[in-house]
Amino acid sequence: MTLEALAWNAQWQQKFEAVVRRSDASLRLQPGRIIAEHRTHYQIGTDTGELSAEATGRFRNNVALRTDLPGVGDFVAFRPAEADGPAFIEAVLPRTSTMVRKAAAEQRPQLLAANVDVVFIMTALDGDYNLRRVERYLVLVRDSGALPVIVANKSDLSADVASVMAELAATAPGVAIHAISARGRSGLAALEAYFDGHKTIALIGSSGVGKSTLTNQLLQRDAMATQEVRESDSRGRHTTTHRQMFIRAGGGTLIDTPGMRELGLWNADEGKDANFDDIEQLALACKFTNCGHQTEPSCAVLAAITAGTLEAGRLASFLAMGKTTERRGNR
Ligand code: GDP
Ligand code: ZN
Repeated sequence: MTLEALAWNAQWQQKFEAVVRRSDASLRLQPGRIIAEHRTHYQIGTDTGELSAEATGRFRNNVALRTDLPGVGDFVAFRPAEADGPAFIEAVLPRTSTMVRKAAAEQRPQLLAANVDVVFIMTALDGDYNLRRVERYLVLVRDSGALPVIVANKSDLSADVASVMAELAATAPGVAIHAISARGRSGLAALEAYFDGHKTIALIGSSGVGKSTLTNQLLQRDAMATQEVRESDSRGRHTTTHRQMFIRAGGGTLIDTPGMRELGLWNADEGKDANFDDIEQLALACKFTNCGHQTEPSCAVLAAITAGTLEAGRLASFLAMGKTTERRGNR
């Protein structure tokens, strides 16, 4: 393993040196990248191999947000282990992108992955692909700072790939879209090009769209099935965990954390606010502040559908998500 294979470059070297300059030289800070996060510790990839590290208490106490704590994909400055103590993460280098799961109201946002360059938003062409879901993933990826790329898998199962591609293109103007068959190994070369220059890629999409199949193809090995490591936790028990960052033989890395996986089991509330701005905006003009946009008189949302300025499918998916546009306070 080399740090370069983990996407270390001159830019990261500069960020690291800036941290070293304002730190105590006695810490003997070293650079590394977090390749897995476990309950009690992190796995870090370095120029000399992998090691296990903890975040210092000072670091934990000083962060403003939970998402400022180290996560998979972060480049860090760490203090090497002394005697049989652990290594300590002293600083997280400023991120180029931050994938965050915006949790429901009572929960705190969760860091999914840091420094992801490109996210493959996967959908399947097997009949139940969902444009609204693609829209929600697009918002999440755009917010993160990573480049979204749409991957329409299972092209072998679609009788009319062209028309679905046209629909996706209309939904996501300006976003690259690739039709592939992960199982049939067709269209993969276009995706492999995104790893050029040691880029970091992540895959999101609902369960069953073919994320594991594509991951295995891109890594040219049966990674998902075989890359389990035995971890010993603080109580000495062994737990089996998946690797969370993979180095691709041809260059580049692929991140696959449990949090990213859970995005497939999408919570209906997530991303709604950002994605139904049009409906929220129209609802401000509904007669009733608690309008359900179904049978109410003087409903501005229904009026927009009648006028042809809002697609009926938008309201249907909004309602299907079980949320309302109830307003608080005076108008
Ligand atoms: P994941 O849940 O997103 O990781 O999806 P999997 O990779 O486990 O794939 C779900 C199912 O779809 C498996 O039975 C795969 O063999 C199948 N599958 C994946 N890619 C393709 C494809 O390109 N064409 C077809 N027909 N099936 C596929
Ligand atoms: Zn209404």
